[in-house]
Formats: sequence, structure tokens, C-alpha cells
Amino acid sequence: MATSERVNENVGRRFDNGNEVLFCTHCNQELQGSSATYLSNLPRYEGPLSEAGPQVFADSSVFVDAPVVFRQYYCPGCFTVFHTEVVPS
Ligand SMILES: [Zn+2]
Repeated sequence: MATSERVNENVGRRFDNGNEVLFCTHCNQELQGSSATYLSNLPRYEGPLSEAGPQVFADSSVFVDAPVVFRQYYCPGCFTVFHTEVVPS
């Protein structure tokens, strides 16, 4: 019997022969890793802070010493962005 549940808005989980299988809730693409690790297995895009949009102040050096990067993790099947962060590079 295949039952599934949501991990979050973008990720679902089902059990296949007792093994946790994560999938995209938008396109059913299976995702690698567990609910704790799938994010680091996703394809990701990195760019300058200026690409984060006008709500993010582009010159981070005013606030922090370390260089920072705008990063997005997305579904390998439908390219829906699952997570966006601004982090030290
Ligand atoms: Zn997808």
C-alpha cells in the first residue's frame, strides 16, 4: 500500500518496501537523500546578492565582513525553487 505525506510545501514522502522515498509534490520527481539531507543533494544556483531582488540590500559588506552569496535549491524535474538563502560563500 502506498501512502504518502507531506514533508513541506514542496516535498512529499512515501515508503517503498520500508525505505523512505522523497519526491517533489509538483512533478513527482524522486529526490535523493532523507528529509534531513535532501536539500544538499538538490541542484542549486548561486549568484550575486543583486539577483535576490530589490528587497535584499545588494552590498552586504555594509553589514558583514565575509562575502555572501544568493543561493537557490530547486527541483531537478520541474525547476521549482524549494529553498532560497543568502549565506556566506
Ligand atoms: Zn518537481
